[in-house]
Amino acid sequence: MANAEVELDLMELADLGQPLKLAHEIHRQLRVQFGSVPTQMPLAGIAAAVGIEVIDEHATDGIEGMLAIMDGRGAVSLHRGLRPGRRNFTLGHEIGHFVIPNHRFQSTKFQCAKRDMGQERGGGNWNQRPALERIEVEANEFSAALLVPRPEFNAERRKLGTACDVAHIRALAEIFAVSQEVIAKVYVQETDENIAIVTSQNGLVRRVIPKQGFPYLGLRRDMPLPTECLTLSFKVANDPVSNMVELPAHVWAENSRGIGALYEQVFVQEEGWAMTLIAVDEEEADKEDEDQDWNRRSSRW
Ligand SMILES: [Zn+2]
Repeated sequence: MANAEVELDLMELADLGQPLKLAHEIHRQLRVQFGSVPTQMPLAGIAAAVGIEVIDEHATDGIEGMLAIMDGRGAVSLHRGLRPGRRNFTLGHEIGHFVIPNHRFQSTKFQCAKRDMGQERGGGNWNQRPALERIEVEANEFSAALLVPRPEFNAERRKLGTACDVAHIRALAEIFAVSQEVIAKVYVQETDENIAIVTSQNGLVRRVIPKQGFPYLGLRRDMPLPTECLTLSFKVANDPVSNMVELPAHVWAENSRGIGALYEQVFVQEEGWAMTLIAVDEEEADKEDEDQDWNRRSSRW
């Protein structure tokens, strides 16, 4: 399915300027064509359908993806040897530069470095961001939205059970052929539970992905993980995925006020990487419901 031929009605795309609306319109047309959106997005087919005639790979120094537009036609060059999830994100990003109408007014040659692939909207003043930075953010938003269609994501997520489990992240990343980081963001957004995902390598924080309203953790990239956390103490025997363990809230949260209980679960991965799921229950004003809730997090016991 990932190599399927795709037909797109470009007139329907032409009126859309926003990255998310463009991605959703492509999904709508894929649903018409295939019945549902393929979980492994047929990116080469989408690229061909919008007018990108060439996708090749080169060993490029510091550049993850390039797009050149000439006479309305596009050519993409990807850094050779990218992992499949990373390659898909980069190709989706370059398709984004091609289909988001105002991007080609900024440039007809895009050279996107790894740093560009990490550009996010953030909380600052959008209009004061440099134009060339804004188009990188938009290409990333388009790519993430295109690669993980929400109805199909939620259908796959439901098959894995109701409670949150850090092992779901890798499983869903494989289903949608994207990086675990891309899936982790969607996972956090789509769950009803109050969770955050922290990725780390060799005990140092790499990314913190909190649900909106999650208690402040005070962690930034390259800071050490909290000394008392499960991620640092968990020893892998057979299963690299730990149980969900309750910890004192202060282990992770800067301020424990309002937190009834805090839980941590870790998935130890290759090359010193770990993915940690932290979940909090709000402090209950009324304790009468406790009997019904006592086993909410028992999925791995
Ligand atoms: Zn770019």
